[in-house]
Amino acid sequence: MRKPDGRGYFGEGFGGRFVPEVLYEALAELERGMDAAFADPSFWAEYDAMLRDFVGRPSPILETTRLTGTSEAATLVLKREDLNHTGAHKINNTVGQGLLARRMGKKRIIAETGAGQHGVATATIGAKLGIPVDVFMGELDVERQALNVYVMKLLGARVHPVSGGTRTLKDATNEAFREWAARVEDTFYIIGSVVGAHPYPYMVREFQKVIGVEARAQVLERYGRLPSDVVACVGGGSNAMGIFAGFVGDAGVRLWGVEAAGHGLHSIDTAASLNAGTIGVLHGSRSYVLQTREGQVRDTHSISAGLDYPGVGPEHAFLKDSGRATYVAVDDEEALAMFHACAEREGIVPALESAHALAYASRLARERGPDGLVLVNLSGRGDKDVRQVAAFDER
Ligand SMILES: *Cc1c(COP(=O)(O)O)cnc(C)c1O
Repeated sequence: MRKPDGRGYFGEGFGGRFVPEVLYEALAELERGMDAAFADPSFWAEYDAMLRDFVGRPSPILETTRLTGTSEAATLVLKREDLNHTGAHKINNTVGQGLLARRMGKKRIIAETGAGQHGVATATIGAKLGIPVDVFMGELDVERQALNVYVMKLLGARVHPVSGGTRTLKDATNEAFREWAARVEDTFYIIGSVVGAHPYPYMVREFQKVIGVEARAQVLERYGRLPSDVVACVGGGSNAMGIFAGFVGDAGVRLWGVEAAGHGLHSIDTAASLNAGTIGVLHGSRSYVLQTREGQVRDTHSISAGLDYPGVGPEHAFLKDSGRATYVAVDDEEALAMFHACAEREGIVPALESAHALAYASRLARERGPDGLVLVNLSGRGDKDVRQVAAFDER
């Protein structure tokens, strides 16, 4: 799978490095450290061992039996990232970047977090490696996600509430960039998705690629053929890039990214950057952004906090424009219905983010018919969402 060009561009101009000068050198140092680590087999050996013993990889695949509700549908197979330590795919990336931070001699890790899932995954690897962690989180999110804030503290991290802007993820990200600029010498910034300035989108994809590499081998072994379709939800886009990376070279496999439509693609309350956004710059790279005509970043909405982000990774913008992947959207209501259906019919409570992918995959499986083989990334488990869903159901 391709690397971005020397300036960090995928295709004709998605990605890049749109940052103030102080961060430019920090990103260049990060890229040198990353290149050296990626070329060193002992780095990957350590990463593989940590994924095996600490995260619990490889995660299995599971054939659903009742989810589509008909025997006329395609075989629908789940990649079980929900079984990872800390409950989602995010730990694959924080393990990789945590090991890189230690290798580069950094004494402190910082991270941004929205719902708190990336904060928890970062605090987890910080604790394991003995590196102090500072997490930046919007004030509103600190209130909404009290449990994850407590878990981060249990893991020894310091959580810094951010009071600017809408007091949510994009403000926390701005603050983390500022903090990095203030202390680049001793600080490693772990970004939680395939977003940000070069080399983050590429680096995070490489750390999530394990999902697709495993899944491709598992499907081939069990079914003797490749899937007809691969489906994943897209917030920043890391679990989707991770599973797509295993199949992007297989021309016969269709790739589907599922965004959060929120209340609908044509409403203001959406988070579907690729479907409803326009090209712009956010958090250091050029991609699709939900913005006003004047270029102000819009407030977004999704029932799932992990998909509630106004930008999307630049490689997805490239895959969209080149036609290699197709991006669709599922609204709050359909995702919520699938959350329940998956619990009742498969015995798995999925993350609300993953429920978006499952909903589209289930539709696709019915469309494809019995000859199809649809693989969907179950990016995380839904324990974190149970309280919110309960409140929703009581309306
Ligand atoms: C954070 C999260 C997402 C969205 O992030 P991506 O970078 O788009 O993968 C999806 N699913 C789960 C379970 C998450 O925690």
